[in-house]
Amino acid sequence: MSRVFKRTKILATIGPAVSSPEQIRDLIMAGVNGCRLNFSHGDNETRDKHIAWIRKAAEEKGRSVTIVQDLQGPKIRLGIIKDNYLEVKKGDILTLDYALKEHAGDLILPLQYNLAEKVRVGEPIYIFDGKVRTHVVEIPSETAIKLEVENDGVVMSNKGLNLPETDFGGDILPPKDLADIEWGATRDFDYLAVSFVQTADDIRKVREVLKKYNSPLKVIAKIETRKAISTDENLEEIVEEVDGIMVARGDMAVEAGAEVVPIVQRKLVTLCRKYAKLCIVATQTMASMVDNPEPTRAEVSDVANAVIQGADVVMLSDETAMGKYPLETVKAMKKVILYTQNNSTILPLEQDPSSNDQDYDAIAAAAVKLAEGLDADLIMCQTTTGATARVVAAQRPNLPIITVTPDARVANQLALRYANSAFVRPESPEAGLKLVEELKESGYLQLREGNDKLKVVVVSGEGQGATNTIKLRYV
Ligand code: PEP
Repeated sequence: MSRVFKRTKILATIGPAVSSPEQIRDLIMAGVNGCRLNFSHGDNETRDKHIAWIRKAAEEKGRSVTIVQDLQGPKIRLGIIKDNYLEVKKGDILTLDYALKEHAGDLILPLQYNLAEKVRVGEPIYIFDGKVRTHVVEIPSETAIKLEVENDGVVMSNKGLNLPETDFGGDILPPKDLADIEWGATRDFDYLAVSFVQTADDIRKVREVLKKYNSPLKVIAKIETRKAISTDENLEEIVEEVDGIMVARGDMAVEAGAEVVPIVQRKLVTLCRKYAKLCIVATQTMASMVDNPEPTRAEVSDVANAVIQGADVVMLSDETAMGKYPLETVKAMKKVILYTQNNSTILPLEQDPSSNDQDYDAIAAAAVKLAEGLDADLIMCQTTTGATARVVAAQRPNLPIITVTPDARVANQLALRYANSAFVRPESPEAGLKLVEELKESGYLQLREGNDKLKVVVVSGEGQGATNTIKLRYV
């Protein structure tokens, strides 16, 4: 096939920088496979508009696009600070009081959450993305805590707090998240991303809430707390429980130290490949492009490294949400992905996915080996639930996976999976081959020079359901 498909996908955060249907369409046409709506900002009316624009643009392109609902999580914030500015000095004692209505300009500050119920003396609290470091010295009342400031700095209204050592006792869904989940269950989202996950139990609780609202959303755990990464066992348990993970490098760096981020990223990509879970590498991938039309060498290297490790997705945050060059950023990212995939091989896993001892993993591994060995043009996955496409993608084939499913939400969810292009067609034993014919006629799939047919390896679950069948066909 002469056409080159991008195998690592792009997830773009939608914000004020892309505030028209045309801008969203341009991003999708340029290579965005999924859009993230960040519930830390914005309102439901705007989100409804964004969802409609994304779905319309996807339809125009004839391609599935994922929409991720990203919850704010227990992000604890200061209240309004007088004049939106307060200088603090090393050694100052700050009081944060949930009951305080108005800041008088002194060191007693309003807080949007009652931390007196959660923290203990000695625990660190980082304010404003870690710019002001403090620790708890006293809990003087049922609503207030006292902190000693460890460095000179500035605090401003509504700035967030990180509490890397505080145990929220499984209470990671504040009332805002619960209300957002309820609202999201009535809207056309594909994934729910959960912030500040600490354990696999947190994910089980989220699934209970989704069940209550009859929501079919798959769940992404944002990995950013010190607790989540505290042991390899805890991390693996979370990956096993969830549908996908986001390496949330921003808060992770504040909570656990920036130096841990590359190693945790590598562990998470490996675990996701092992368990066929979606893996998103997020935050500051092209951060300098918020203000500049070109990425830095280090950013290019960072994205290329995620591709070589075998992440499914690289994510853009401020770059597309509030940057000056959203479209240029997507184009630059796509260029890096294509160059890297075409000039490198993905790092092999020490333990390949087929060693999970599941028959379907072994079938998927055999299908990819066969397709690569025969130099096929593509792998066709026929799937109802998406499972076949997920296990084939986990093998990280170096050729395109075209998936056919009767379920539009499954197709949208697969849009972020490695090498996957998913299409919705009615279920039938011949649906896959018919789709290949159709895509060949439309020019989406092209013959290689000298070939008169496309060589297709078809993978499906026949009869009993799970992935169990491999066929070789010429179309
Ligand atoms: C992060 O911290 O890296 C992240 C993705 O979280 P958010 O942007 O939601 O704060």
